[in-house]
Amino acid sequence: MTAAALVVAGGSAQRFGGDIPKQYRSLAGIPVIRHSILAFLHHPAIRDVAVVIRSEDRARYDQAVEHLDLLPPVLGGDTRQASVCQGLEALRPLNPDHVLIHDAARPLLNHAVIDRVLTALDRNDGACVGVPVADSLKRASSGRIIDDVARADLWRAQTPQAFRFQDILKAHTEAAGTDFTDDVGVARASGIEVAMVDGDETNFKVTTMDDLVRAEQLLKRVPLETRVGQGFDVHRFEPGTHVRLCGVDIAHDQGLAGHSDADVALHALTDALLGALGEGDIGEHFPPSDDRWRDADSAMFLRHAVDLVTQGGGRIVHVDLTIICEAPKLSRHKPAMRERIAEILDIDISRVGIKATTTEGLGFAGRREGIAAQAVATIERRI
Ligand code: MG
Repeated sequence: MTAAALVVAGGSAQRFGGDIPKQYRSLAGIPVIRHSILAFLHHPAIRDVAVVIRSEDRARYDQAVEHLDLLPPVLGGDTRQASVCQGLEALRPLNPDHVLIHDAARPLLNHAVIDRVLTALDRNDGACVGVPVADSLKRASSGRIIDDVARADLWRAQTPQAFRFQDILKAHTEAAGTDFTDDVGVARASGIEVAMVDGDETNFKVTTMDDLVRAEQLLKRVPLETRVGQGFDVHRFEPGTHVRLCGVDIAHDQGLAGHSDADVALHALTDALLGALGEGDIGEHFPPSDDRWRDADSAMFLRHAVDLVTQGGGRIVHVDLTIICEAPKLSRHKPAMRERIAEILDIDISRVGIKATTTEGLGFAGRREGIAAQAVATIERRI
C-alpha cells in the first residue's frame, strides 16, 4: 500500500492580523507549516508529500520548507475545496493507494493519529479524525439562548482525513463548483462512507496568536525520539605555525593539511550530527573538489549540520569529542575549545565534552604524523 499526504496551506492572514499567514508563523523556531509537513515526512508509511499553497506565498513557502524532500508545490484555487482538488490532480501521476489530506495550520499532528487514520482505511473507504464534543451546546441569537442542542454523537472534525486516492479524486472532480468545508463533506456527497476515529486534543488548528502560544507549550510534551551519531576524521601534519582545533588556533611547529582549515575536530563533530540525522557525511555536503570550501572556516560546516537538526524539528542534547595526538598539548586549550563549540552549536557548555589523549607513541598519531578526532552527538527530534 502506498500513501501520500496532501497538506493544504491556502489560508490567508485575515484572522491573524499582519501580513504573514498563520501557517508561516514561527513555532518553536520553525514555521508552523514545517511542523505539519515533518509529521508526514518522518512517518514511515507516507511515501510522498505535496503541499498546496497560494501563489503569493511562494517565496515564504520556499524558505519554510528548505532542504525538505517534497513534491513541487501546487498552486491552490479560490476555495479550500478547489485547492484540494488541484492538489489531488497533481498527485494523479503518482496514483497512491491512499491519500491523507491535512490542514497546514495543525502543526501538532503526531504519529499515533496518522497510524489510527491509516489503520481505519483497512476496513473503511474513508476515515476522519475527530474529538467528541464535551461541552454543552446551545444555539444563541442576538445574545439569547434559543435552543439546547443535544451533544450526543457530536464530534469536532480534525484532519488528516484519509481516503482511497481514486475515490476522493473522483468525488472532488464531481463536486467542482460546490463549497464543502472539508473533504469528508465532498466524500459523503459522492457516497463514500467515512469512519470517525479518535484524533487528539493537541491536533488543534492554530487560528489566533493565543493558539500559537498554546501550541508552543504543548510542543514541549510531544513525544521525541533520541538519536546518536558518531564521526571520525584524520588530518596529517604539514609545515606550518599552528593547528586549528574546535575553531581555536593553537601555536605548533606544524600545521594540518586540508582543503578547508583542516579542523579535524569540527569535521568529526559535523559528521556525528549528520550521522544522527541519517544525512550522509561532510564530503557529500561540502565536496573537497569544490573551490568554495578552500581554506573555509569549518565552523560553517558544523553550523550547516546544526541547521539541519533544527529545521528537522530537533535539538542537540549533547556532544562529546576525543582528540588523539602526541602534540600539541591540549589541556590548557580545552576550555576555549569547549566554549567555541557551545557557541557554534548554540547549546549550554555543560552539554559539550572534550577530551584529549595520546596513543602512547603507537601508530600514525604516535609517530606525530597527524591528528585524529572522534565525536558522538545525541539529538532529540519529534516523531
Ligand atoms: Mg576532514
